[in-house]
Amino acid sequence: MSERFTYDGGAVGPGETQEFRFTVSETYLGDPVRIPVTIINGEREGPTLCLTAAAHGDELNGIEIVREVAHEWDHSGLRGTLVCLPVLNVPGFIAQQRYLPIYDRDLNRSFPGDDSTTSAKRIAARVFENFIEPCDIGLDFHTSTRGRTNMLHVRADMSDPPVARVANAFASNVVIAGQGPSGSLRREASEAGTSTVTVELGEAHRFQRPLIDAALEGVLSVMAEFGMSATETVKWPGWRTVIDASEQKTWLRADAGGLVEMHYDRGALVEAGEAVCTITNPFKTDATTVEAPFSGVLVGVLENPLVYPGNPLCHLVALDESTLRAFRRYHCAHE
Ligand SMILES: [Zn+2]
Repeated sequence: MSERFTYDGGAVGPGETQEFRFTVSETYLGDPVRIPVTIINGEREGPTLCLTAAAHGDELNGIEIVREVAHEWDHSGLRGTLVCLPVLNVPGFIAQQRYLPIYDRDLNRSFPGDDSTTSAKRIAARVFENFIEPCDIGLDFHTSTRGRTNMLHVRADMSDPPVARVANAFASNVVIAGQGPSGSLRREASEAGTSTVTVELGEAHRFQRPLIDAALEGVLSVMAEFGMSATETVKWPGWRTVIDASEQKTWLRADAGGLVEMHYDRGALVEAGEAVCTITNPFKTDATTVEAPFSGVLVGVLENPLVYPGNPLCHLVALDESTLRAFRRYHCAHE
């Protein structure tokens, strides 16, 4: 038998599913600010997996991922418990902006929270204590900042073996290694014993179906790795690179202001010296070509084509020779 999952004001028993709205703050009118929560407790014992999205209020892809897991999947064979929080930053979500509208605080720098200080930290504490800290593992879904887009990738502290296990199980091609910023959900959760990774996919303000589908495959793979699903198997992405501090990665920046024509999509392989994009003026004269300084994969690219000098154009990460070969083999076979 699985264990009861308890939170402030309730409990979810084995074999039970609960959907409710949980108060995390109050508005200027004194009305409750409530986040949607779905908890699915399997009949059989297993780990507790927390799925979170929209800690940044305009990052929508993860919302759809968490909703589909919670409300479209068949959980009759579930071992363990799923804690599904599709919209963490409800005030930001309503305003369709990244930060909490209250003093523009970043909820994803406010964890683990504190119930005696700022409103952002009080909200974070309500979420963290009730739903994140009680879990064994976590997946926190994000997108690129507005105006840019990311290929599907995982960010994780690969020096922490339980976190690396989650990251590898998610089966993305690219893992960016690192502890993450202080106050971020994944770092604070992992330090509190909930091994958590960030999953980045696509851009803000969109549902991007192919990316959502790929991420759902990753969720299934994590559930298989941790024995939560008897029918699924752990996936292998075909090729994988783990980018740590020693690997080359760079944001290519514009040296000219103007209008950008990107020559590649997110996730594309570019070879050293190739033109990644061209910046032109309104007269289409004085074109500036931006070349790749090394061979690698475009993890993030610009969506809004307007730049000042110094603005980021794309996030390029190097692939070593064997990963380059695996990349080419894989993509030749799948296109
Ligand atoms: Zn984010």
